[in-house]
Amino acid sequence: MSLFDTLPKTAAEARDWTWEQYAPYGEDLLARDLVGANLDAFMRDWAALENVISEVRSRASVATTLDTTDQAAEEYYLNFFKNIYPHVAKLDDKLSRVLIDSGLVPQDYVVPLRYVRTRVELFREENLPLITELQELGTQFDKIIGAQTVMWEGEEKTLAQMRPVFLNGSREEREKAFTLVKDRRLQDRQALNELWVKMFRIRQQIAKNAGVDNFLDYTWKDYGRLDYTPADVQQFHQAIEQVVVPAVERLNEKKKHKLDLQALKQWDTEAKDPNAPDLKPFTKGDELADVSARIFQQVDPELGGYFQTMRDEELLNLDNYKGKAPGGYCTGYSMVKRPFIFMNSVGLHDDVQTMLHEAGHAFHVFEAANWPYGGQQHAPIEFCEVASMSMELIAAPYLTKDQGGFYNEADAARARIEHLEGMLVFWPYMAVVDAFQQWAYTSGDAALDPDNCDAKWTELWHRFKKGVDYSGLEDWVATGWHRKLHIFSYPLYYIEYGIAQLGAAQVWANSLTDQAGALASYRKGLSMGNTGTLPQLFEAAGAKLSFDAETLGRMVDLIEKTIDELEETV
Ligand SMILES: [Zn+2]
Repeated sequence: MSLFDTLPKTAAEARDWTWEQYAPYGEDLLARDLVGANLDAFMRDWAALENVISEVRSRASVATTLDTTDQAAEEYYLNFFKNIYPHVAKLDDKLSRVLIDSGLVPQDYVVPLRYVRTRVELFREENLPLITELQELGTQFDKIIGAQTVMWEGEEKTLAQMRPVFLNGSREEREKAFTLVKDRRLQDRQALNELWVKMFRIRQQIAKNAGVDNFLDYTWKDYGRLDYTPADVQQFHQAIEQVVVPAVERLNEKKKHKLDLQALKQWDTEAKDPNAPDLKPFTKGDELADVSARIFQQVDPELGGYFQTMRDEELLNLDNYKGKAPGGYCTGYSMVKRPFIFMNSVGLHDDVQTMLHEAGHAFHVFEAANWPYGGQQHAPIEFCEVASMSMELIAAPYLTKDQGGFYNEADAARARIEHLEGMLVFWPYMAVVDAFQQWAYTSGDAALDPDNCDAKWTELWHRFKKGVDYSGLEDWVATGWHRKLHIFSYPLYYIEYGIAQLGAAQVWANSLTDQAGALASYRKGLSMGNTGTLPQLFEAAGAKLSFDAETLGRMVDLIEKTIDELEETV
């Protein structure tokens, strides 16, 4: 019997393990003299250890979101991060170095090894406390934003709670609400500027410690962006300016006429057609799961089977309830090789959209589960989001009742139009967020002056967000970067969604002419896990990793054409 046979067999068994119990396995691995003959055993044992710790961490994290009032769950999770995680990070770095120094390449590990190499290259122990400090500053951002409320109709409301007014309120209500929210946000202008400066300085230091020119280059490596460059992304920004910005202007023009307005103001941009009531696709999460199961069965029986497994094994937690954390996500349990989907469904179309999206992530977990090592299973985020965003589009034709879905034909068309318009509106906004940060982290010290940030954001906003009358809203425009969580807490993490959306649009386009072929390619791409480069993963899925106006323009044409067709049905 080998030492590794004594590892816990389930996450429940491992729940109370301390680092002292895990440590001997790490020492055993580090003591091995790595040669060709024992490479497989080394990789297998390393993966076994990693899988236990990873599933314990995932389940601990899930527990805190299922019940935010569960103090024991929160303590357990914090304890994991304090007492186990730092050891895991250091061990991972050491084992990665052993593997790289050996010069050996495990089977089907050429691509994952690139990421291991970059991780090792960038790792600096002196950056760990700086990263922790940034996380703490991130919680300050959450606190500032979380404390923002306004008085509306005699009641104190969080800014998120004001959203229905922007969707369904009268024009007068919308403008009033917008002004209230804007003024409340501007009260924190100074505080957010100061927070930004602190974070910016730390980020510059992190890059310097790692021997990299600037934080843009640092992050590029840190996120494992090995198959495209900042220059490619700048080309993407230009392509968006060229083909998406005019399309959104056309959308805004249409909206202006529909709402019968002289000028489209910011508070009109989300307003719904007053003659079209909110969609009510289902009441309980069980019903959402029932109907979704029928849809996935139609999309592809094998995928339908995966979804059934998730239902049978209770890997879905869909209904919103008191004490549940907000949002929706899909995570993976690495020992049992299963996904888990978390949502806050309340019976809206948004929930249907989230279900389709997260199911795409879940199918990715199933398809890639056969690879023996974690490094081979987890594709880069740019492709993970192709898996999820494609599913939203491929499943859309089955939203109608006669296909087993939720809606009559007119409602399904409305839902789909909203989704497709959302895709168009997203690209230019994404370009602003990304271009702003690319500028900031390559500006030397210019971005340390918030006035410069305001000016840059304003310039980008007017370049990419056209067709709205912003007169009188100069302060609101200039401080737009304060309203984006990612800029503070997840720097430079956003472009992934823009790239993935272009991939997903291509998978969808394929499905319109050849559903079976498109699905076969989609699943082929997913099943590669992380064993192909980004261009290879996209290609396997039937798409091209692209940043050019030609590919983007074709997809924009298809989206606009489809919207026009669907509008006939509404
Ligand atoms: Zn996603």
